[in-house]
Amino acid sequence: MSALPTRSKPKLKSSQKTNKQITQNFNLKELETYDIIPAKYFKNCERLLKNLQVLRDELGAPVIIHSGYRDEQINIEVGGVSESQHLKGKAADISCPGFTSYELYCMVALLINEGRMTNGGLGLYNNFLHYDIRGYHATWNYSTKYNVKRMKQGDKDYYIRQKS
Ligand SMILES: [Zn+2]
Repeated sequence: MSALPTRSKPKLKSSQKTNKQITQNFNLKELETYDIIPAKYFKNCERLLKNLQVLRDELGAPVIIHSGYRDEQINIEVGGVSESQHLKGKAADISCPGFTSYELYCMVALLINEGRMTNGGLGLYNNFLHYDIRGYHATWNYSTKYNVKRMKQGDKDYYIRQKS
């Protein structure tokens, strides 16, 4: 693990954020950490939060958003890929108290396959899950603590946990 990158700007104060309640449990401001969401991305963000509400309802527990919308500069500083869905307000890095990131991964994959969440990217990390609504299946594993194997299932593939 590398050291935390230096951020060139401070986190936004709550009063600076876009205060717009989208679903029962999610406000637009939860997708804003360093950057104000441009209005042209509101639609994407609203769709993303509606999907996260489905997950939240299924889990019956709070879903914490660690990183949502990012502008180009912050995306580079946090080491995001250049075509990151975070740049368009279509992605969130999430965790949920009481659930491991692998459990979240499985839950979101299931909800996508049931057609209850939008198809998109699933990225497994040690302490959070990346989810995005890009519209087609993508998955990656950047975690080091799960013994997982990539396996094909139909036209998709998944990281399946193996016995340690
Ligand atoms: Zn992410």
